Amino acid sequence: MGKVLKINDDSVDVSIIVSMYNEEESLGLFFEKINEVINNNLKYSFEIICIDDGSIDGTYEKLCEFAKKDTKVKIIKFSRNFGKEYGMMAGFKYCNGKCAIPIDVDLQDPPHLISEFIEKWNEGYDMVYGIRIDRKSDTLLKRLTAKMFYKIYNLLTKSPIPYNAGDYRLIDRKVINAILSLNEKNIFMKGIFGWTGFKSVGIKYIREKRSAGVSKWNYWKLWNFALDGITASTTFPLRVWTYLGGLLSLSGMFYAFYIILRTIIKGIDVPGYASLLVFILLLGGIQMVILGIIGEYVGRIFLEVKNRPIYIVENKVNFRDEE
Ligand code: UDP
Ligand code: MG
Repeated sequence: MGKVLKINDDSVDVSIIVSMYNEEESLGLFFEKINEVINNNLKYSFEIICIDDGSIDGTYEKLCEFAKKDTKVKIIKFSRNFGKEYGMMAGFKYCNGKCAIPIDVDLQDPPHLISEFIEKWNEGYDMVYGIRIDRKSDTLLKRLTAKMFYKIYNLLTKSPIPYNAGDYRLIDRKVINAILSLNEKNIFMKGIFGWTGFKSVGIKYIREKRSAGVSKWNYWKLWNFALDGITASTTFPLRVWTYLGGLLSLSGMFYAFYIILRTIIKGIDVPGYASLLVFILLLGGIQMVILGIIGEYVGRIFLEVKNRPIYIVENKVNFRDEE
């Protein structure tokens, strides 16, 4: 596994990884709750890796204040907003822990679960993921679309995502290294977690409402996220047309045969304008959809081939020099 980084501070047991974008309002309460957890688990040494994903409010300044008071708090500042998935990737790359826990800063992932995660980790699990049993804090439409996405994703891919599992989980160093060994740019973290394998267990929890601020997601973003997820994990949408196309050609041949026979038996028959138009429109439409799907993949191949870095780090705080 070529790209795995050497660990600079092997005294750290647990790395908490928090990606944040414009979260100055949520920060204070978050650190309060996380420190409670840390104080309840004094057997372990913690670090809190905060990724400032290009915030344009006072998030970074506020983070620096916390980092000044507490060297456990480490900051990676991105040069612009790259997205939570990439924030998490940076967290995995720069973390030192024997395990890592990605968590949201808005306290929708209850920090008290961390103690349970660690307990299961001690029992020998390499991945302990949270399962949201109650998504009442999400709107009905979001819950329905999420459910549909999990259904479709799991139908199409070989490494299914446990239903209602999010990014909130504990992963062992083994899993971190497996994730870091990937070379792809379009990272669908939920899918990747499952793809790595390893001994896993789920813990149920109730997803809370946001502590402050507003969600950064809208339906258009979610739709694109779902597309990224599916195209990153399966080529089924490309392959299915081979079979559907085959079926259409076959029925076309039968129909042609029928028309030839009918012409021979009954003579030439001119009507058929409407059905002809319908068929042309239908086929034209299907072909465009197929082209669109191929385009989705080609676009992603283009992005992968360009091989750009997935994020740019502008600044790091509280890391050792060589990190
Ligand atoms: N986030 C991020 N970069 C982004 C958008 C969001 O790092 O571009 C962080 C955000 O600050 C929060 C987490 O990702 O810690 C989850 O975001 P949010 O609460 O908006 O999503 P939701 O909980 O509604 O799915
Ligand atoms: Mg949230």
